[in-house]
Amino acid sequence: MNCLQCGAYSFEYAGPNKEYARCTKCLALHTVPRPGHVQLMDVRAPNGQVDPQFTAIFAQQLGFAPRQAQDHVVGVGPVNIVVPTARIERDVRNKISGIIWGWIIGGIILAIMAIVGVVIFFFVRAQMKDMSANGGMPAAGTGAPETVTWDGKAPYSCGASQVVTIKGTTATLTAGPAISALGACQLTLDGVNITAPDGIQAMGTAKVTVKGGSIKSTGTAISALGTAQVDVQGAKITGKTSALGAAKITGAK
Ligand SMILES: [Zn+2]
Repeated sequence: MNCLQCGAYSFEYAGPNKEYARCTKCLALHTVPRPGHVQLMDVRAPNGQVDPQFTAIFAQQLGFAPRQAQDHVVGVGPVNIVVPTARIERDVRNKISGIIWGWIIGGIILAIMAIVGVVIFFFVRAQMKDMSANGGMPAAGTGAPETVTWDGKAPYSCGASQVVTIKGTTATLTAGPAISALGACQLTLDGVNITAPDGIQAMGTAKVTVKGGSIKSTGTAISALGTAQVDVQGAKITGKTSALGAAKITGAK
């Protein structure tokens, strides 16, 4: 059987013989004259009005546990109006959560667009860097910068995409170029004094910066091949310098 007030099919029972039934939706109280049959109880407060609080106390007297109505029954004169408060609450909640979800989804979309943008930016930049490097050569200066110690007793060479600084070394060699910069090596000689038959040999796309110090050679002090660049900044160069092809030597006096 259904609730005689709201039509819901949802009863709970009380009383020693389950002679009372309460609709769990609108809390309307019913009597159960015999199993499977209900009759609506007209519960009214002493002032003759339908009062949900009074009905709740009445229900507790009958043995029902306190319960929050999903619908409130409001007595308007002799007519009982079922107000679907639960439905209104739910609709309002849905609307609010819809707005909040709109913000969250909007924020997520913005974040994804930002991440994609950053990824594309770095990807394109990496591609351009690769293209600007000579075919097959590693990108110039992509290695982690490092300061190496060189004892100056044997020739030193760097290559690939190394970024290297040698500081304050005095090297005296009897053979070979003292320094060979190969590949895309970026080498900085800072205050290095070299005495050798040949000083610096730079090849590939290597970039050598000679800051201070000196190179003293009986043969070629600086030799640059390929598209290598050697920039002399205040170092004293004794001996020939030789730049072939697109290679460049700047600042040597
Ligand atoms: Zn009901």
